[in-house]
Amino acid sequence: MCPDHLGWYTRNPVRNLTDGADPLRSFLRYRLIDREALHVKNYVFKIIVAGDGGVGKTTLLHKYVTGTFMADAQMTIGVQFHLKTITIDDSAYILQLWDLGGQDRFRFMLPSYVLGAKGALLLLDTTRLITLQSLEEWTDVCRTHVKDLPILLCGTKVDLVEDRSVSPNLVKEYLETLNLFDYVEISAKTGQNVEQVFEMLLNKIASIPLLNSPNLPL
Ligand code: GDP
Ligand code: MG
Repeated sequence: MCPDHLGWYTRNPVRNLTDGADPLRSFLRYRLIDREALHVKNYVFKIIVAGDGGVGKTTLLHKYVTGTFMADAQMTIGVQFHLKTITIDDSAYILQLWDLGGQDRFRFMLPSYVLGAKGALLLLDTTRLITLQSLEEWTDVCRTHVKDLPILLCGTKVDLVEDRSVSPNLVKEYLETLNLFDYVEISAKTGQNVEQVFEMLLNKIASIPLLNSPNLPL
């Protein structure tokens, strides 16, 4: 290896990429391919899914990404994320979907998890009135870095008709107070409105000039 190799790479960052086994060269070549791939798929949107523990965040994402209902989701430790590609009006979007853990002991990490998000789904559980109480707190978390981040409120588990304790009228009060752009009732069990809430959020993001540019490469 040339003793001056670091300076040489710095001065000739692109020409060196075609060379063989040197790990530094391989690394640089890898980074270039990586970046090229991300530029081809140039609509990567980070979306966060927020709400109290047990409202159905993980189950919703599982249904949306895999198409199946998961009756026994384990508690989400910290945060998980999924990727999903969708096409709307001939444009392909890659959604980076972040499942925020709702448990108190992870809350101190939330501001860093929501960094770079373009929009959020905020979930309440239509069978548990108490999940409305923390909507304001979750809204603040989602908007830690972007004051007017678009947030779609979703009422989960509407297949549990007998257990419903939250009426749509009650929820509407929160829309205006918290500046949430709509309310949609969903069921990860039956699939009701699962695809629609992601499309609605994406359409909203696309209509806001400051937000509709893709996220930076991962
Ligand atoms: P999280 O803590 O917000 O991620 O909530 P989970 O996704 O772990 O869901 C908590 C519980 O609610 C699990 O037992 C799920 O099976 C159940 N659940 C979630 N969504 C639905 C739904 O749409 N219908 C029914 N019946 N149960 C659901
Ligand atoms: Mg979870």
